[in-house]
Amino acid sequence: MNDHTPEQPAETVARLRATFRSGRTKPVEWRTTQLRRLREMLTAHGAELAEALHADLGKSPTEAFRTEIDFTLREIDHTLEHLAEWLRPESAPVPAHLGADATARTQYDPLGVVLVIAPWNYPVQLLLTPMLGALASGNAVVVKPSELAPAASAAIARLLPQYLDTSAVAVVEGAVPETTALLAERFDHIFYTGNGVVGRIVMRAAAEHLTPVTLELGGKSPAFVDRGADLSVVADRLARGKFLNAGQTCVAPDYVLTDPETARALEPLFARAVEALFGTDPQSSKEYGRIVNERHFDRLSSLLGSGRAVTGGATDRATKYIAPTVLADVDPKSPVMQEEIFGPILPVVTVPGLDEAIEFINDRDKPLALYAFTDSDTTRERLAAETSSGGLGFGLPLAHLTVSDLPFGGVGESGMGSYHGRYSIETFSHRKSVLEKPLA
Ligand code: NAD
Repeated sequence: MNDHTPEQPAETVARLRATFRSGRTKPVEWRTTQLRRLREMLTAHGAELAEALHADLGKSPTEAFRTEIDFTLREIDHTLEHLAEWLRPESAPVPAHLGADATARTQYDPLGVVLVIAPWNYPVQLLLTPMLGALASGNAVVVKPSELAPAASAAIARLLPQYLDTSAVAVVEGAVPETTALLAERFDHIFYTGNGVVGRIVMRAAAEHLTPVTLELGGKSPAFVDRGADLSVVADRLARGKFLNAGQTCVAPDYVLTDPETARALEPLFARAVEALFGTDPQSSKEYGRIVNERHFDRLSSLLGSGRAVTGGATDRATKYIAPTVLADVDPKSPVMQEEIFGPILPVVTVPGLDEAIEFINDRDKPLALYAFTDSDTTRERLAAETSSGGLGFGLPLAHLTVSDLPFGGVGESGMGSYHGRYSIETFSHRKSVLEKPLA
C-alpha cells in the first residue's frame, strides 16, 4: 500500500485476518490495552467528538456526552472490570459413561474478523460500543461509520488509528458502494445497526459466506398509559424520552396508546412538559437537536397532517427544525402510524382498555421496546406475559439500554441478537465445548 492507493476491502480484510491468525489479538492484555486506549481517546477528544455531533445533528454538548461519549466510557469501564470473570471457562458435569476422570468445560474463542456497520443517529456510541465488545472478545474489527453523519465519521476515521492497534482495527468510511464492497468479503461476524431494508441486504450478503449476523433494527415502540397513572410524571418522562436527539432514537416511544379520557387529560401536560424541557421556543433552545438531512425532514413534515397538534407542529426546512410535536385523535390508519417515525412527532392513539391495547400491539410487528406507565401489578404482569418486544420498560423509556448487565437487542422485525456487557462477549465469541479424558 502507498499513500496514493487506498487499501481495497479485500486487502483490509486479508491484513486483519493475518493479524488475527498470528494470535496477536487473543491475550487478555491486548484486549484490555485496546479498551484503555479507547478510553484515553474519548477522554482526550470528547469535546471534538461533541462538536462533530453538533455539526451532524445539532446535539448539545450535554446530550453528546450523556448519550454517546460517557455512555461508551461506562461500557468500557464495566467491561474492563468484569472481562476476566466473563471469559472464565465454565465446567460442565460429565455423564457416568465417560468415567470419573473425564472433565468437560466451555471456553470462549474469538471469532476472527468482525464487521461493524453503524447508523447516523448515535454515530459514536453505536459504532464504538459494538466495536469494543468485539475487541474485548479478542477479534480484529472493521468499522464502517454512517455517511449520513459525516463529521462524526471523519472524526472517528481520524482518531481511532491514533489510539488503537491498526493491524487489528480498520475504519472504512463510505456509503452504499463502499459498504457493498465490504459485504462481498468473508467476515466471521457482521454486526449491523440500522433499518430493516438494509438489514435484509446485510443478511443476504452474509448468507453467501455463512457468516452469523446481529441485526439491531428499529420499529414502532409503543407506550401504554394506564388509567390512574400520575399523568404529569408520564408526560414529562415521555417527552424526555421522545424528544431526545429530536426523536431520532431507535428506542424512542413511537406512539402513545391509552384510553380516550387519559388521552384528553394528557394533552395540556404534554405542552407543559415540552415547555419545561425546551422553553416556549424550542427552536432557540440549545438543548434541542435537528433532523439529520432534508430527506428525513421532508418525510417527517409529511406526517404532521395526521390528527390534531396539541403542541408543536412548526417546521423550518432551512435549519431542519421540527418542533417537538404531540398529535391527538390519531387514526391508526393514518400515515404517521404506518412506519417508524424516527423524529420528534408523538401520536396518541386511543383504545378502550388494556385488552385492546395488547391486541393492538400484537397485531403489529414486534417492537424494539415496549413501555408502560401503570400502578397495577396485574397490568405489568399481563403486558410482560402477553406481548413480545426487544425490551420492556415500566415507568421510564430508554433507560433499560443503559443497564450494561441487560442484553440490548430486538426480536422479529426489530432485529436479532443482542449486545452490551457480557452479552457482547456472547455475541462476538464462539463458546467452544472441550472434553478431556486422560490417556492413562
Ligand atoms: P443509515 O442510513 O446510516 O444506515 C445504516 C448503515 O447502513 C450505514 O452505515 C449505511 O452506510 C449502510 N447502508 C445504507 N444503505 C445500504 C445498502 N444499500 N447496502 C449496504 N449498506 C447500506 O441508518 P438508518 O438505517 O437510517 O438508521 C435508522 C434506523 O436504524 C431506524 O430504523 C432505527 O430504529 C434503527 N436503529 C436501530 C438501533 C438499534 O440499536 N436497534 C439503533 C439506532 C438505529
